[in-house]
Amino acid sequence: MTRQRKRFLLNIAMLSGVAMFAVAAFWEWVFPHIFVFDTAAFSRQFPATRFTDCRGNVVHTEPGYDYCLRFPVKLEDLPQHLIDVTLAAEDRNFFEHDGVDLCAVARAAFQLITNGRIVSGASTVSMQLVNQTGERRERSLLYKLAQMGKARNLERRWSKKEILEEYFNRLPYGGKIYGIEAAANYYFGLPAGQLNTAESILLAGIPQRPNRLRPDRFPEAAIKRRDLILEMLVRQGSFTEADAERIRREPLRFRDFSLEAFPRAEDPQFFLWTRQNHPEIRGTCATTLDMAKQSVVNAVITRCVNEHRSVHDGAAIVVENRTRAVRAFLGTTDFKAAGDGQVNAALARRSPGSLLKPFIFGEAINGGLLVAETLVDDSPLSLGNYRPENFSGDFLGRVSARSALSQSLNTPAVRILNSIGTARCIETLGAFGIRFPENTNAEKIGLSLALGGAETTLWQLAGAYSSLASGSVPADLRCTECATEASNSAGAIWNAGTAAMVLEMLQTVPLPGAEHLEISWKTGTSNGLRDAWCIAVTPEWTVAVWFGNKDGSSAPELVGAEIAAPVAGAIMNALYRDQAPAVRDTSALLRTTLLCEKSGLAAGTHCEKTFSGTAVVGIPLRTCPACKSFDGANPYSRETQVLQPLGGVYRKGFNGKARFILKSLPAQAHWYLDGSYLGFLKSGTALEIPPGKHQIYVWGGNDFSSAKIEIEVK
Ligand SMILES: [Zn+2]
Repeated sequence: MTRQRKRFLLNIAMLSGVAMFAVAAFWEWVFPHIFVFDTAAFSRQFPATRFTDCRGNVVHTEPGYDYCLRFPVKLEDLPQHLIDVTLAAEDRNFFEHDGVDLCAVARAAFQLITNGRIVSGASTVSMQLVNQTGERRERSLLYKLAQMGKARNLERRWSKKEILEEYFNRLPYGGKIYGIEAAANYYFGLPAGQLNTAESILLAGIPQRPNRLRPDRFPEAAIKRRDLILEMLVRQGSFTEADAERIRREPLRFRDFSLEAFPRAEDPQFFLWTRQNHPEIRGTCATTLDMAKQSVVNAVITRCVNEHRSVHDGAAIVVENRTRAVRAFLGTTDFKAAGDGQVNAALARRSPGSLLKPFIFGEAINGGLLVAETLVDDSPLSLGNYRPENFSGDFLGRVSARSALSQSLNTPAVRILNSIGTARCIETLGAFGIRFPENTNAEKIGLSLALGGAETTLWQLAGAYSSLASGSVPADLRCTECATEASNSAGAIWNAGTAAMVLEMLQTVPLPGAEHLEISWKTGTSNGLRDAWCIAVTPEWTVAVWFGNKDGSSAPELVGAEIAAPVAGAIMNALYRDQAPAVRDTSALLRTTLLCEKSGLAAGTHCEKTFSGTAVVGIPLRTCPACKSFDGANPYSRETQVLQPLGGVYRKGFNGKARFILKSLPAQAHWYLDGSYLGFLKSGTALEIPPGKHQIYVWGGNDFSSAKIEIEVK
């Protein structure tokens, strides 16, 4: 060999060495950075969600991205044989290569050259994974190169375990079924963790041609494919022939494909609401729903709506007080109706009628202003243009707070609200979870708060009453068993005795239709008969019921006590089929004390007739102001009195009228003659009254109490 020839060959060798080094360097350091794989593509494809009831049964499925059914599963929850056979079939050197299996590429290239067609794809798990982003695939060399680049890029950022886990979660198994968990569920009705080897191999074969190998439609093709893979595994040495024979005899436990694998609730409002509160939950969501109670509620509410011609909708919520878990939730009776069918009435703001009264009375009790036996004034009341009337149209005069609340009298509730202030009540209601929209404030709502002037929802009301039933310890209602919903309860809003007294007052009359007497309940009827409500509570349960029309139209049947109360009673009967409600032990919360007969407040030194009544432990009750003398001995008396004139018969004067000098306690008050407002008059003002029978009515003072006398002028 000549010297030149030697040098020439050396140069060739050196050049090819440099070229090979350049190719290797390019492959190793540059190539993986040209095709960057965006893993965010995976997180955008959120999985489906299975909602289970409180017993763990799947009751509703919410599809994920692109309506796909994919349920995330962890690698450690998959059987080892599934991982082994999948890797043996798809990517034998998975743990050795860095995303591209060069031996497999060489083999594929060799087969392509010798056979003239593609025998094996040489696609690694990582290469297949980067293809599962939902983007369109191509059959070009550049596309294949990009796939390799992306796979190697991914391998540099993710561990083998992460890649394998994502792979099992992304593979297509026919139709909208993606990922091994959904496939195991759909084809075998099993979690992937319970698949046997035969089933694992069958599933491992599907992703190659998912819509041609799905065993529900092409069982023979699927099983044939399974046998091919098994033969290949034997050839590779993964299994012995005896193993293969044993695996062939393993049962393929196919599900009954005529049944729904992923049930959808007919009325998914509870799940939509749960989703709204928990946008983060994916995969499986354990809800608090009790299907037995749910079907009772559905049946009772639907029957009632069907029985009333002009009532078209109803909603109900059943809460387990101890855990605040929502055990039944009905947002509407006509979810499938066109137009407003899907409106969730349980979450819609409506006028609650009298349902907030117990919280107003409670606030007064907690402030020591009254107890159940305190006499409150139910006489006509006119505050500016505001003239609340009772539902019955009558006024009962002086009645106990118990009667006023249990009969839902309006003017006592308005008077009490006036004495404690709307702003303070709104704050308390807020603590109970009843929150009004930002643009409503105390000034805007005013005293109408007591009678349903501010709108709230069945959901908020159910929560507030559940808190009331739990000694006024507030906590949000729970739809799921998620840790994020774990106890968020603050301290009690009131003295526990206050809540006990309010609940006891609400037991005065038995709940219509209920078999048990130990149920506290309150109804609400909105102005113009548009909403009928009833909320019933026991130590264990809160049952909240609403009837009305979504378009807000009124109906004569929409009276809380008539339509909603018996339904709440029926639901309570179902809840207490096997046991009676627990009896509250209030011995440590309530105390016996001497009350004045005249006022129903703590008896003072001037009170003559007294009786033994009940007050709250730890709350000093206001002393009776009625029995104090009017001569200024008790400057703190706030009880309104008409001091002059006294009731009785008077003779008219020369001008045909009787002349009076008015005098009241407090010295300046609002005066009315026969219902017409005279003004905010100071004691000493003169008034002339024509012949006839007349009623004089005065209100004022810090507590907005009132007094009334009758006179006749002849
Ligand atoms: Zn007294």
